[in-house]
Amino acid sequence: MPTCRHCYSVYPRGQFIHGIGPLSQVCVRCGLDKELVTKDEAASYYSKSIANSRFSAIARRWAPLVWLGIFWTFWILYLTDVSPWNWFTLAILILGTLGTPLYIFVFSSNYQATMARLTPDYERPEGH
Ligand SMILES: [Zn+2]
Repeated sequence: MPTCRHCYSVYPRGQFIHGIGPLSQVCVRCGLDKELVTKDEAASYYSKSIANSRFSAIARRWAPLVWLGIFWTFWILYLTDVSPWNWFTLAILILGTLGTPLYIFVFSSNYQATMARLTPDYERPEGH
């Protein structure tokens, strides 16, 4: 993958603007920041709202795992000695631990569709 000559970041080819001279090897973000291209020309640019929406989709997908870790830590630290609540919450935690991978698997196509919707269209130009 190529490296941007302004910010030294490595991106896929689709995240670069096209042209020769000052336009070569420049990512879309640097191209917009340095006003080398307009927003219409940089079709693959992830705007602030698209980036926030993608982050939100990622957070929604992986949040159950984070909550499971928090709940297991809470259970181990505070609830192991509290009878009978330790057994009730343990049963709920085991159900959640078994159900979370199923939940992630079942909604994986939904997640992929959301990410595809939130990916800017990019047409590879001739010769690239
Ligand atoms: Zn750059």
